[in-house]
Amino acid sequence: MSISPPTRHKPTSAPGLLELAYDRLTGIPRGHFIGGRSLVDPSAAAVPVTNPATGDRLCGIPAGDAAAVDEAVCTARAAAGHWRRTPPSERAGTLLRVADLIDENAELFAQVESLNVGKPLVISREEIGLAADAFRFMAGACRAVQAPAAGEYVAGHLSVVRREPIGVVGAITPWNYPLMMASWKIAPALAAGNSVVLKPSELTPLTTLLFAELSADVLPAGVLNVILGAGPVVGEAITRHPGIGMVSLTGSVPSGQAVARGAAGTLKRVHLELGGKAPVIVYPDSDLGEVAETVRVAGFWNAGQECGSATRVLCHHEVAHELVANLVAAASTIIVGGPEQGEDVEMGPLISARHREKVDRMVRNAERDGAQVVLGGAQAHRTGFYYPPTIITNVGRRTEIATEEIFGPVVTVETFSAEAESVEMANDVQYGLAASVWTNDTRRALRVSDALDFGTVWVNSHLTLASEMPWGGFGLSGYGRDMSTYALDDYTRTKHVTLGTRGSGERQGKGGEYDN
Ligand code: NAD
Repeated sequence: MSISPPTRHKPTSAPGLLELAYDRLTGIPRGHFIGGRSLVDPSAAAVPVTNPATGDRLCGIPAGDAAAVDEAVCTARAAAGHWRRTPPSERAGTLLRVADLIDENAELFAQVESLNVGKPLVISREEIGLAADAFRFMAGACRAVQAPAAGEYVAGHLSVVRREPIGVVGAITPWNYPLMMASWKIAPALAAGNSVVLKPSELTPLTTLLFAELSADVLPAGVLNVILGAGPVVGEAITRHPGIGMVSLTGSVPSGQAVARGAAGTLKRVHLELGGKAPVIVYPDSDLGEVAETVRVAGFWNAGQECGSATRVLCHHEVAHELVANLVAAASTIIVGGPEQGEDVEMGPLISARHREKVDRMVRNAERDGAQVVLGGAQAHRTGFYYPPTIITNVGRRTEIATEEIFGPVVTVETFSAEAESVEMANDVQYGLAASVWTNDTRRALRVSDALDFGTVWVNSHLTLASEMPWGGFGLSGYGRDMSTYALDDYTRTKHVTLGTRGSGERQGKGGEYDN
């Protein structure tokens, strides 16, 4: 994702903006998707799917159970045999067709995503583009897999390393970027020759269901299966199922811990992309205007419901006053609204009333801990789950707001006096996903990026992602990497095959020796 400079127009009402999504809504199959088809059960609409911009119910989906997971795993295992033996060039061709299919339906996917998550269309469109790119990248990458050279590392024995698929991959995805997160898992898993059983977030299943339905024309039946339902039921069943070789979760730390515990019984491979608390470290020689404009976008992108969000500004005390003034000026111009309110809307609602309460509670706790809200900070009195862009200063070290993930449109500012102190403060959280460093001093940029305990460090940038580069964290942010060839490696296993090249006769010098 490469963030673009913001626009600052007034919102205009444009009710036709989600027309495609509304037209298609009733047609999206809402059952589990197993073996290339949707198992529609009209009576099973137990779990409501809501439009966060209005609070209205959009539809209902079934609450799956362990039996549904078991059926999907059996189907996926049956499909895996053929798919894993399909040559990489053919698998790549299939994935490229999937990417084309996403592009051909990009506006429909973007509108459905905006309807279900409440996010501005400009954000959904960018994500859908990145979802297609994930398939395109993995299509190329699976044809260029690396391994040590085959050779005789022991005399008379030829060693070969095979990179094999793991089998059935269980994928569990969050609500903040539903199709993009699903693609970051499905693309490398399928590229490596695995089959997939995926559970989308119960809050935002619609684009995943649409994707499963559309890709059925391209993917062999059974290589992608989707089971709907609650995390502690369906996610847990995936995590514990002995027929699944790997479980890959993007979500919160408690869910990651539950998955790691559940996977321990079968010792299946675990891949975890969890929360974050990205520091934005600002030195006095940086361009403060650029910092403020970047935080305006990267701190409030997706209403701050972004694991790499620029949420925690650490600023040298000499420039803190000027930076806070710039941040408040920049953030107060953010255009807040629902996706139907105009192409120029920049920030939507939070995902649910419950999540908004959690964000507000953290802001109230921060005030109680002595911090000062200098922008926003009060629940908006309007329909939908809105929370305004919020900036908080006077934040105490190690308080809740300084150390815990907020996952909302809230940016905090803390100050430091020396480089060593800034690094110590940045690392003084249990998360380790991403950080940014703002300075025009190259040596300092290198020193500080070396000292930071985060899986991604941006210098004079924030939230810039590329399909070719790895994404993943340290500490409570989890382990394993999304995107890049590292992700492809994560979804494969290595097997060392050794071939004895000389029989007992040849070993005793009775032939089979060559000079060349
Ligand atoms: P969540 O943990 O509530 O849910 C994520 C998924 O896990 C959902 O499908 C949910 O149903 C499932 N789940 C919940 N409990 C489970 C259990 N016991 N066993 C198995 N599965 C379970 O997270 P969320 O609220 O959907 O997403 C927000 C979180 O995701 C934030 O913490 C955010 O930082 C993180 N996130 C991380 C990344 C990353 O790349 N590191 C990207 C996006 C989101």
